Amino acid sequence: MTFNINFEFKSNFFLYSGANDGKLILGSTFKPSAGECGNMECNNYALHTAISDDTKEIYSRRKRLAKQLGFLDLITLKQVHSDKIFVADSRNIEDFVQNPMVEGDGIISNVEGYLFGVLTADCVPLLVFPLSEGVSFVGAVHAGWRGVKSKIHIKAVNLIEKTYGADKKNIGVIIGPHIGKCCYEVGGEFCDTFKSQCFLCNEKYFLDLESVVSDELEAFGIKGKNIFRCGLCSKCSVTPEFYSYRNGDYVNRNLNFIGIKRN
Ligand SMILES: [Zn+2]
Repeated sequence: MTFNINFEFKSNFFLYSGANDGKLILGSTFKPSAGECGNMECNNYALHTAISDDTKEIYSRRKRLAKQLGFLDLITLKQVHSDKIFVADSRNIEDFVQNPMVEGDGIISNVEGYLFGVLTADCVPLLVFPLSEGVSFVGAVHAGWRGVKSKIHIKAVNLIEKTYGADKKNIGVIIGPHIGKCCYEVGGEFCDTFKSQCFLCNEKYFLDLESVVSDELEAFGIKGKNIFRCGLCSKCSVTPEFYSYRNGDYVNRNLNFIGIKRN
């Protein structure tokens, strides 16, 4: 299978086409243009940060997106910057649907018909999928600097290998929109943790978290050519624009999703 990812833009999200198109759907939502929805929250999918009346609307928005893409529902976790990864199977999958407050930062599954999402506003979303036919799984991982420090990206691939008998050589990873090295200014202490990808620019420290993730995945055995960096910075990308914590989006989140289509 070739690994040639392209953006396929829809009204309020784009799909990563070329990643196992026959069986999988992968994509990321972005921020609506000013005035497009009457308010700036109309493409927010985060339940855990929603309050009161908004929750209902966000629930139905999530359902709508899932249905639009041919899925039964959307599953997200209450992300807490941990290294906890769940395996969703046919027995427990509805528990995740019913309770979006399960705390964790990664979920892997081989169950068809559900979208698995990662909510981000600067952190790194990872979508993990098989390149070979016949092997069926998906993984959605939320990796901020804490998650990267605790190697959640490596643990997710490791768990996929163990659970589904997948071979690292045949695993693809999409790194979705997140704060790029162009904008990710950090304190000097970060350079102790992430030495190789920390750099000085105009006497300020910046961190290239994407390269940390990518380099470590490659060192672990994922082929470099099978890692797709989407190249969109959540803080400074203009078209499309994303929710960005550092730009003041403290409540709204972009949704990065992956799922196996129903037969
Ligand atoms: Zn940037």
